[in-house]
Amino acid sequence: MQIEKYIRDIQGFPKKEILFKDITPLLNDPIARKETVFILAESLKGLKIDKVVGAESRGFFFGILLAQELNAGFVPVRKPNKLPYDTISASYELEYGTDSLEMHTDAIKKGDRVLIHDDVLATGGTAKAVCELVEQLGGEIVQCNFLMELSFLNGREKISNYPVFAAITY
Ligand code: 5GP
Repeated sequence: MQIEKYIRDIQGFPKKEILFKDITPLLNDPIARKETVFILAESLKGLKIDKVVGAESRGFFFGILLAQELNAGFVPVRKPNKLPYDTISASYELEYGTDSLEMHTDAIKKGDRVLIHDDVLATGGTAKAVCELVEQLGGEIVQCNFLMELSFLNGREKISNYPVFAAITY
């Protein structure tokens, strides 16, 4: 299956100069969606995963499906002040300024084998912050896993300490 067929290009969203990769056609097709989960899970070749960590918000969709497929827990990483329990946080750089992400303090146990998932690897700032959160709690990152990598933005360099898998590379 070609996942690319289910990714729609939107020119000018959310800012004029951006070509946005829209995954909603993929979410809306049950067969393509199932096949995509299979492709993402296959990249782990039987490796044991205790927790899948998904980044807000588009990392939640396939993150939870992957967790189900791998029989693993699912951990949401969210923007500040969205999670109800005690949190840890990690900041990352934006084009102008910084932002941060949060995770519950009890979401990962020391030594847990963790898969990080997001829909897109762009500059890598988000993924790096998620890696920092996992490591703050003593988790072991098995792989950073994406539907798509925008390779011209060199995001892999920011997470070069970890194995990276992307189902599609642009
Ligand atoms: P980064 O931190 O790697 O620069 O950006 C990755 C984050 O931005 C991901 O959480 C992803 O959801 C979002 N993102 C950046 N560009 C796109 C895009 O073209 N399409 C989608 N769906 N998300 C994007």
